[in-house]
Amino acid sequence: MALIVQKYGGTSVADLDKIRKIAQKLALLQKKGNQLVVVVSAMGKTTDALVEMIYDLSDNPPERELDMLLSTGEQVSIALLSTALESLGVKAVSLTGPQAGMLTDSKHSRSKILNIDPKRIMEELSQGKVVVVAGFQGADQKGEITTLGRGGSDTTAVALAAALKADVCEIYTDVSGIFTIDPNMVKNARKLSFISYDEMLELANLGAKVMHPRAVEYGKRYKVKIHVRSSFSEEEGTIIREVTSLEEKFMVSGIACDVNLAKMAIIGVPDQPGIAAQIFTRIANAGINVDLIVQSIRKEQENDILFTVNKDDLPKTLSILNDVSDQIGAKEIYHDENVAKISIIGAGMANSPGVAAAMFKALADKEINIEIISTSEIKVSCLIKKDKINLAAETVHDTFMLGEGRLPLM
Ligand code: ASP
Ligand code: MG
Repeated sequence: MALIVQKYGGTSVADLDKIRKIAQKLALLQKKGNQLVVVVSAMGKTTDALVEMIYDLSDNPPERELDMLLSTGEQVSIALLSTALESLGVKAVSLTGPQAGMLTDSKHSRSKILNIDPKRIMEELSQGKVVVVAGFQGADQKGEITTLGRGGSDTTAVALAAALKADVCEIYTDVSGIFTIDPNMVKNARKLSFISYDEMLELANLGAKVMHPRAVEYGKRYKVKIHVRSSFSEEEGTIIREVTSLEEKFMVSGIACDVNLAKMAIIGVPDQPGIAAQIFTRIANAGINVDLIVQSIRKEQENDILFTVNKDDLPKTLSILNDVSDQIGAKEIYHDENVAKISIIGAGMANSPGVAAAMFKALADKEINIEIISTSEIKVSCLIKKDKINLAAETVHDTFMLGEGRLPLM
């Protein structure tokens, strides 16, 4: 008998038919003697619709009311799934986040989980019920409803799995696992049987939508075995787990591409202490994430600073830069939207010299110019022209022969 936490995202519970099918699967699984805790998201695009509604009423809705509203999406799903289970003769109970013991801080719309008290869930499980929990929500010390930020149901599921010491946390989604690269970009993309927490964290931070980075972080911290798999088939997906032995550390496990970027440059700023701090503090205070920062010396006593931001943040970033450029004495502000980032991720990279060089060579062979390079222990990212991203994806995927299997260390 296993204790299994499952999570179904919005597309998996998009309509009643899908909810019925999930109920049937759960019924079978429970019959086999498993204890089941099921976390669900709001149906389909419900959360988007709710966001739109409240912003139609106000440009600046009260944070508390926003969370009050958004949390309703998941409550619809839990009531329906529990009812579908009951109608199959399976004992089930739906619990909101607070009822399930989710205590969070008070930062509405982006709350962090402070503690989970799994007492109620355990009680319900011991009575033979399937426990259906609303994802993405909790309550603070005062009992105010909070939400964990968009995509937060993944985090609910992994955190519950940790608190319950579940055998596995299964994330059911609309893809069949984690691939070496987006299969829409490269045809011979291959599904990975497993990937390390660190690699998955990089992929998630690079925008792989399959799992929320915070959920992966949770998994890593509490060593939760996470199984990412398709809601629409029985096939095995990808296990996210700890990888410590060198044999399981590959040079490259996956490639991520991001075309939703803009490159910014501040040309000719004085080479003085405090300049970068001033610029990036302003940007950070506006809640804008910055990536791939490069500072280079152009002339003596003068620097250029380059970085990338998400394209949606371009207007805000430009207005901040125009604002600070006088204060810091910059000569020119420049931006370019015709850029894309390609990154390779591999836990074994650190033990395998030449991986970065192989990537650069692959790009050079196709005459793809690299504008910015950035590396971490398990990642190399290159900024290139956007119209070259598909070619880059193909050629880098081929170079590391990811269509055939991951390469061991060199
Ligand atoms: N329903 C929420 C959202 O759409 C949470 C989730 O789906 O994970 O962001
Ligand atoms: Mg989701």
